[in-house]
Amino acid sequence: MSLSIPPPEEHTLKILIINEGHDQRGYREKRCAVSPSTVKRMVQRGITVNIQQGAGQLSGYADTAFTEVGGHIVEDIAPVLQETDALLCVNRPDEAVYSLLKPAALVIGHIDPFFQQPLVEALAERKLTTLSVEMIPRSSRAQKMDALSSQASLAGYVMVMQAATHLPGILPMMMTPSGTIKPAKVYIIGAGVAGLQAIATAKRLGASVLAYDTRPVVAEQVESLGGKFLSIDLGETGQTKDGYAKELTDEQKQKQQDAQRDAIADADIVITTAQLFGRRPPQLISKDTLALMRPGSVVVDMAALSGGNVEGSEPGKVVTVNGVTVIGTGNWSQAVAKDATDMYANNLYNLLDEFFSDETKQFNLNLEDEILAGCVITHNGSVTNDMLVNAYQGA
Ligand code: NAD
Repeated sequence: MSLSIPPPEEHTLKILIINEGHDQRGYREKRCAVSPSTVKRMVQRGITVNIQQGAGQLSGYADTAFTEVGGHIVEDIAPVLQETDALLCVNRPDEAVYSLLKPAALVIGHIDPFFQQPLVEALAERKLTTLSVEMIPRSSRAQKMDALSSQASLAGYVMVMQAATHLPGILPMMMTPSGTIKPAKVYIIGAGVAGLQAIATAKRLGASVLAYDTRPVVAEQVESLGGKFLSIDLGETGQTKDGYAKELTDEQKQKQQDAQRDAIADADIVITTAQLFGRRPPQLISKDTLALMRPGSVVVDMAALSGGNVEGSEPGKVVTVNGVTVIGTGNWSQAVAKDATDMYANNLYNLLDEFFSDETKQFNLNLEDEILAGCVITHNGSVTNDMLVNAYQGA
């Protein structure tokens, strides 16, 4: 007598996208980790895509937009979490979510790992493999997966638009029989991805743009966008091997604040975009300098949620300080949630695509690969990223 053994059901990668609704700080989160276009491509690769009901709603995608391309909508995520191989998030998941994942499941999202030590350690303890999108190397090969850049570009645009709506004036020059209006003066501090996009946006709207960055190499990029670069001699500033700014000395910080005081006092709009990778952002504008600005001027503090570039900015709020409007809304790209979702979803698809094996239908976690070696921060029970381990130990 022969026994017929049914072939084992092929186990294909099962991913889950949750409806985030708000992030951990209670701010509304409108973005989603997939778009219909990426769900379609994943399904074509043989990936099972489960999406929590309503996850795309705030970025303009109804549940049906996902089901039409082969995604599955789930109401109750608890049972699905237990069989999920990869959880795709915009932010970091809550304990209620990650505690239901099976060991070795992949968690992908903006984990904010330098400032979320307890969470990262909890993820490690649960033997989850965490991939922090902030840690994806800024290399040419990883550019298509670079969520920091995609979201920062949109942030640059959004910050200018928010400043423009709060300014009691217009940005372009206007010559009319009733008089001539001069272009608004916009000063942008920090000319990385967000700053350069803010410069381009303000220029397109007709403003006169001045910008400064501690990395002198960006002067040429600022000028190519039609902005002027404020030259401040701070001595040796330099950048890290990954192209990030190094922290200034106290003397350099003071020099910068003194040198840009006139530019700030003269500006209608100031946008601060200065960040330091893995550290709190530098304070660039003191209340005394803010007091030099004309009433009605607008300051946008890109870093307001993570410590702030501007003294007096309030996380998540628009406040008035001595008549100056200080915008600290934060989470900028979600203001243009559809485009932000499309770009972020593409970043995550490109990441999966790079490491998905058509043979095993699984994510190939090759930790020798320089991209995964950089962005996988917990695996097999440990925090695996040396930079984080050192930061947690205060080294
Ligand atoms: P970031 O968000 O870390 O910082 C924003 C900008 O603030 C930077 O340009 C930084 O130099 C500047 N800054 C820091 N302290 C300052 C201060 N006190 N005053 C004025 N400016 C200050 O930077 P980012 O936009 O993420 O870009 C970081 C680097 O990565 C850049 O060199 C960028 O060109 C590079 N990058 C490379 C790729 C790639 O090759 N794939 C992609 C994106 C970014």
